[in-house]
Amino acid sequence: MVNLNIKAMRYLSPEDFRTLTAVEMGSRNHEVVPSSMITQLAKLRGGSCTKSLSVLNMTKLIARMPKSNYDGYRLTYAGYDYLALKALTKRASVYAVGNQIGVGKESDVYVVSDQKGKQYILKIHRLGRICFRSVKNNRDYLRNRKTGSWMYLSRLAAAKEFAFMKILHEHGFPVPTPIDYSRHCIIMDLVDAFPLRAIEKVLDPEALYTKLMGLIVRLARHGLIHGDFNEFNILVYESGEPIIIDFPQMVSTSHADAKYYFDRDVECIVHFFAKVLKFEGPVPKWEDVMAMEKLEALDLLAEASGFNKKQAKELERYRENQRKMQEEGAEEVDEFEGEVDDDDEDEE
Ligand code: ADP
Ligand code: MG
Repeated sequence: MVNLNIKAMRYLSPEDFRTLTAVEMGSRNHEVVPSSMITQLAKLRGGSCTKSLSVLNMTKLIARMPKSNYDGYRLTYAGYDYLALKALTKRASVYAVGNQIGVGKESDVYVVSDQKGKQYILKIHRLGRICFRSVKNNRDYLRNRKTGSWMYLSRLAAAKEFAFMKILHEHGFPVPTPIDYSRHCIIMDLVDAFPLRAIEKVLDPEALYTKLMGLIVRLARHGLIHGDFNEFNILVYESGEPIIIDFPQMVSTSHADAKYYFDRDVECIVHFFAKVLKFEGPVPKWEDVMAMEKLEALDLLAEASGFNKKQAKELERYRENQRKMQEEGAEEVDEFEGEVDDDDEDEE
């Protein structure tokens, strides 16, 4: 588990911060950044940089590779969190971090507030947290963790989610209002509603079913498939209005497996309503939806907004790899196990 090391945030001197930023810069092309390079990038005197490196290492914002004599450091997830939160607090998007309300394999979700006490959601993407040690094929494991890939992939997932949330929001889809993002973190409106999975009784199941299927169809006419349209990612207000969340796996209807993803989204709703809410309604068919009049191509808009095909492919390749390894029954390894301390440990 990677916790947010909020306490350490207050204690960093400007030199420490420069040094941390230098490690991030160096990480773009070095898995472990040589200390000499960090000093250079930080533009600090050698002695002052060495002191900062020791402080950052102690607070676990950077780390040495285990069992290595190599004089260099890599950024830890805590270090990356620090840089992102620092940027977000500077822009006044975040003032205080509150409770953690979600822990997934690939994200942590917190309630945060701004200076006026208004609450938001902070979602931290954590791709590459779980790596797999394959029994069959060790190469896959290695490929999985090449240079800085967790940082790059987590940043990519956040950029993708923010871009799609913004476009959907601007086109009148019921999604949280996106506020800001930095690196692997995004800030959005807190939706004061319950996930569908936590709801056993809906006043009007037919109305909700119709709305949800209507959303899947409208998305597809705009060229998009949510890709994870299930009871965990649908929040429902007391009024019965749904809000859709969680967008890093969205795909275009021009994707080779688009029909598969579309059918899977539809099936999730059909299944949940039949099993839990005892309701069955009409099931939209891929062919019928594709034959409908097209609406503005939002998949192309997303691409134009800075999330391009190459990046989409990279994320997809990562997910594909994770899925394969899981199916193979590969051993899961928490890359960051023991990297970040519990709160009491920082007390020292
Ligand atoms: P994951 O990738 O971990 O599934 P989600 O975006 O689905 O991430 O968020 C995980 C959980 O956090 C959701 O199931 C929901 O309960 C809560 N959550 C996420 N975003 C919001 C939001 N904007 N408002 C309220 N709750 C949220
Ligand atoms: Mg989710």
